[in-house]
Amino acid sequence: MPIGSTHNAFVKRLAFISMALALAGSIPAAAATSLKEINPPPPAPVKKPLAIIGATLFDGRGGAPVQNSVVIVLGEKIIAAGPRQSVTVPNGAATFNATGMTLLPGFIDSHFHIERSYDLPRLFLSHGVTSLRDPGQWIEVYEPICRSELPQPRCFVAGPHLDFPPHAHPLDAFAVSSADDTRHAVNRFIDEGASVIKVYFRLPLELIAAACDAAHQRGVPVTAHLELVDADAAIAAGLDGIEHVTSFGTALASPEDAARFRKAVSADNEARRKERYELWSRLDLDNSPRVKPLVDLIVRRRIFLSATLAVFEKRQGGEGVADAEARGFANMQKFVGQCHRAGVTLVVGSHSEVPNAARGWAYQRELELLAESGLTPSEVITAATLNNARYFRIDDRLGTVEPGKLADLVLVDGEPAQHIQNLRHIKRVMLNGQWITPASDSE
Ligand SMILES: [Zn+2]
Repeated sequence: MPIGSTHNAFVKRLAFISMALALAGSIPAAAATSLKEINPPPPAPVKKPLAIIGATLFDGRGGAPVQNSVVIVLGEKIIAAGPRQSVTVPNGAATFNATGMTLLPGFIDSHFHIERSYDLPRLFLSHGVTSLRDPGQWIEVYEPICRSELPQPRCFVAGPHLDFPPHAHPLDAFAVSSADDTRHAVNRFIDEGASVIKVYFRLPLELIAAACDAAHQRGVPVTAHLELVDADAAIAAGLDGIEHVTSFGTALASPEDAARFRKAVSADNEARRKERYELWSRLDLDNSPRVKPLVDLIVRRRIFLSATLAVFEKRQGGEGVADAEARGFANMQKFVGQCHRAGVTLVVGSHSEVPNAARGWAYQRELELLAESGLTPSEVITAATLNNARYFRIDDRLGTVEPGKLADLVLVDGEPAQHIQNLRHIKRVMLNGQWITPASDSE
């Protein structure tokens, strides 16, 4: 699809929608608390209430699951949720027997690349992902999803990532070369519907700071994929989130290893693919004096960490996996565990397609790797739902199963607290109060 004037009408329409939404709330866009998807699902017809009865409920807030729960949905909203004995099922409500199943908030994916695979968002939706965010793509690319008559996950977008040449991904990049340029680009993409700004790894520190400043004036968070700029410096410049555990590489490595890595990647973007494993394999995370100050900074600045472990997964004995790669990946997981134990807010990003998951299951692979890194199943579920809702700034309406929130829900077979793999056993998905898989057969 060519990018440019032919799609201006679409972009203008999105800009109009975001302006109208801001005005409807009678608050200036900069003070708006809930950021918007570019494809809000149609309102659910208010028929009669639906009672989902008997499931084990994980509400996303991290507490103990509620056995034998009742959740009542009316229109697009949850109107009651709790133990069966404390929730009254309204007269005339439709019922869904969820005995033996677990009910969860819809999963939220903070790192989804569409790559023009227009069936992929819908495939993810059928696997429980009801909201996703693309951290670096021209907004026009989502036009077919916005026009689709089929149910689609709520799509949050960044616009192209901001970068400095030579670009690693020229098609998804927007080049900026000064602070003015950067501010202009940030405002342009927010006007076009961006609910996050993504800075890429060649962008110098001053321009990261300019992007953060401009985005924060509009109430929009900034996240980064880093390779060359140290994470501690970029965090101090104002970031809200970090994509990829590998973004911490140079901040954790010895100065000599970091310098060698920067030299290799500065000369050739592609060198990062091999060099990052070399660098991570040489880290001594138990004894390095660099770990604690960095982790403390991530906690103090309340940075959201979307580790995307699954895209880097390399295991000892795996086909074609070098020793350094397996050791490097083991250290990536170890660092995620250290961050978690220190109180870092972890979120879940799938990266869409990853080595050790069939197409459509990258999100679940990431959930499993987070559990393996030391999160309890309940913590994994919170990372997938409420934490991402906070990262997206949509937690006033999504991310938990609570009265007043929108009914984006997932039902899985069995108990994920026993086996995290049960989060693959999707029975039903509800988007905005409507079952989407399979067709509405419960009412
Ligand atoms: Zn990515």
